[in-house]
Amino acid sequence: MTKYMVANWKMNGSLETAHDFCQTFTRLFHAHQTDNTIVIFPPHPYLSFTNGALSGTDISLGAQDCSGASEGAFTGETSATMLADVGCSYVIIGHSERRQQHQESNTFLSDKIKCALEANLRPIFCIGESEQDFETGKTQEVLKTQLQVLNDFKGNDKLILAYEPVWAIGTGKVARLDDIENTCAFLKKELFDVYQLSSPILYGGSVKADNAKDILSLQSIGGVLVGGASLKPDEFWKISTAIVIPKKPQTSSFSPKL
Ligand code: PEP
Repeated sequence: MTKYMVANWKMNGSLETAHDFCQTFTRLFHAHQTDNTIVIFPPHPYLSFTNGALSGTDISLGAQDCSGASEGAFTGETSATMLADVGCSYVIIGHSERRQQHQESNTFLSDKIKCALEANLRPIFCIGESEQDFETGKTQEVLKTQLQVLNDFKGNDKLILAYEPVWAIGTGKVARLDDIENTCAFLKKELFDVYQLSSPILYGGSVKADNAKDILSLQSIGGVLVGGASLKPDEFWKISTAIVIPKKPQTSSFSPKL
């Protein structure tokens, strides 16, 4: 099964760095290929440019957020339909930085997922516990509350979940492999039992070229969401190919005459 390799550039870079990244990354892609699903999430102003620069590859485009409204008097917002219009197939919803900086509530996030799905975008819904919650053993309780947003989307196979412990994002502190696996196995069961979902579960939090293989080899992990290390094309390529998905055997139409 394909693994998702998600590059979240956050609010970093320029048109020039987007150009340089795509030039190097597409060269690596054409030279080596991979069956993993790679999605790049540039800042909104560089979406169209990046879409053009990735053309001719299987690399997909995503946006870092969308509005919870479909259109109208929402100055500064971008609708999911607009994102689809400029080539996006995915959108990140509920990233912890947005939850913290914009006080995004469960109701608000549910509206965003609804808009994304209506625009035919695949939402990558992010959840994760704070350091204090982790240290006081409240991880599962907190994640269960965050998952309640999915009550409105039971059985929707477009959804992707990203588990990102807040204390591991941008800090260089990676969660222990056994903690990642235990939490993601818990999430997998919860998704299936409560929400009738078999969504891929991505891990995010200080993923780098040197720890990607171990994380991607965990049984419950369907991919990685990468922030800082995704700004460097060589490093993100190493992450994207840290685990090799065997190519599907080619089916031949040749049938020998007997
Ligand atoms: C993120 O952007 O969600 C993230 C996990 O960032 P980093 O890889 O830098 O920790």
